[in-house]
Amino acid sequence: MYDVVIIGGGPGGYAAALYAHNFNLSVALVEKERLGGTCLLRGCIPAKTWLKTAEVYVTVKKASEFGVNAGEPSVDWTAALNRKNSVVDRLVKGLTGLLKTRNVEVFDGYGRLAGGGVEVTDDNGEVHRLEARNVIVATGSKPRAIPGYEFDGNRVASSRDALDWEERPDRVAIIGAGAIGSEFASLLGDTGSEVHLFEMLDQVIPGAEPEAAKTLNREFKKKGIKVRTGVGVGPAEVHDDRVVIPFEGDYVEVDKVLVAVGRAPVTEDIGLETTNVKVDRGFVEVNLETMMTDEPGIYAVGDIVAGTPQLAHAGFAEGIAAITHIATGEAAPVDYRAIPLVVYTHPEMASVGLTEAAAREAGYEIEVTDHGMRGVGRAIIQGEVGGLVKIINEVDGPILGATVVGPGAGEMIHELMYAVAWEALPSEAAAYIHAHPTVSEAIGETLLSAAGRSLH
Ligand SMILES: Cc1cc2nc3c(=O)[nH]c(=O)nc-3n(C[C@H](O)[C@H](O)[C@H](O)COP(=O)(O)OP(=O)(O)OC[C@H]3O[C@@H](n4cnc5c(N)ncnc54)[C@H](O)[C@@H]3O)c2cc1C
Repeated sequence: MYDVVIIGGGPGGYAAALYAHNFNLSVALVEKERLGGTCLLRGCIPAKTWLKTAEVYVTVKKASEFGVNAGEPSVDWTAALNRKNSVVDRLVKGLTGLLKTRNVEVFDGYGRLAGGGVEVTDDNGEVHRLEARNVIVATGSKPRAIPGYEFDGNRVASSRDALDWEERPDRVAIIGAGAIGSEFASLLGDTGSEVHLFEMLDQVIPGAEPEAAKTLNREFKKKGIKVRTGVGVGPAEVHDDRVVIPFEGDYVEVDKVLVAVGRAPVTEDIGLETTNVKVDRGFVEVNLETMMTDEPGIYAVGDIVAGTPQLAHAGFAEGIAAITHIATGEAAPVDYRAIPLVVYTHPEMASVGLTEAAAREAGYEIEVTDHGMRGVGRAIIQGEVGGLVKIINEVDGPILGATVVGPGAGEMIHELMYAVAWEALPSEAAAYIHAHPTVSEAIGETLLSAAGRSLH
């Protein structure tokens, strides 16, 4: 009998498995593929590795601006693909070793809830039963398809397929300009593809601050990406050698189309129907204080959870919360107010807390302060002045949210994460001095303005 059996070895599941050692819990982890889940195998890690290749290419291409003669660079796609695979392999190996060190028993196979435990069907069709005091379901998500764009692993690709493309498509259409679609647009645009980015809503990164989306849009256009927002596409015409995408009486012809319209939870055929677990449109409902479902002893974490962000680090935090409740009986809820979101485009966009629109909708009386990157010394040194900082605070009250666009935004956002989480007043946060010259000084300047003073 295990204290915990976990179904799914992605960020939610493996974080729970790793964290359990703090309480000496006995743990089994069931995974049907390699360990690591979407994030490690076909999401965050491979995508960011490709983006790094694009960044190096752009840096070398622009080298002469910095007085460095490097000749005309080219991308060796096979070498970049191999590097991506070796980064993933290295991390899978590290994770596998760490789980072993922590005495987590890993079972290869397909897990299903059954009579208070978990049944594991291995590759040979043999079924093993694992008895469990508690089960954590962490089965994750998969790319959503749309009618007229059935994934064929070739011309009509999901993000999973696109991360393994063996050559760079000369012409590509991307349907959906959320984080995943925009990251692919950025890296393919930077490395020389003709990119058509379609978004049905009225801006790239729907839900982000409009000024930030506008900045990103402008930077995309500089890369030659054809961005079409507020545009829905008709069903694709898939030919042997090309795809035709119709839209608004017009069309584009491309070599590949990448569909990036969101991710659907993986909750079918895992035995949920044999329990009292509530499922809403495929997402599992949990008590967000504890991550427990309506069935005592069954928890859910990660992308399958209803109403929480589909992010790896949200999954980590939920795995930790579930284990803490299992081990101690105490609720240690995730603080969703301050989970950063990073879009690793070039330039990066990062946000935390409420946007201006969300704060107004929530009924706050707010002040909004922003600051561009154009006058920021380090941004000029880096040749990357396309960016901004925007901070939202309650009138005479704490910082509620912030967005940063610019070089290193994904790293810089964490100081604002603390500001939001600790409900800092702008004047409190502005009292500390940022090192000079750094891009983060743009945050210091914005805080100072938000506190009613300004320097530059
Ligand atoms: C292209 C891309 C880029 C992304 N970039 C980022 C990023 O930069 N930052 C970020 O925070 N998030 C990113 N994400 C999202 C992130 O990958 C997910 O939020 C995260 O992986 C969710 O973790 P999870 O544990 O809930 O599920 P998953 O990672 O999907 O893992 C679920 C695991 O469960 C296994 N499984 C499913 N059913 C069963 C079963 N019945 N039996 C056994 N095993 C089963 C699956 O094989 C899988 O390994 C990205 C996603 C994509 C697609």
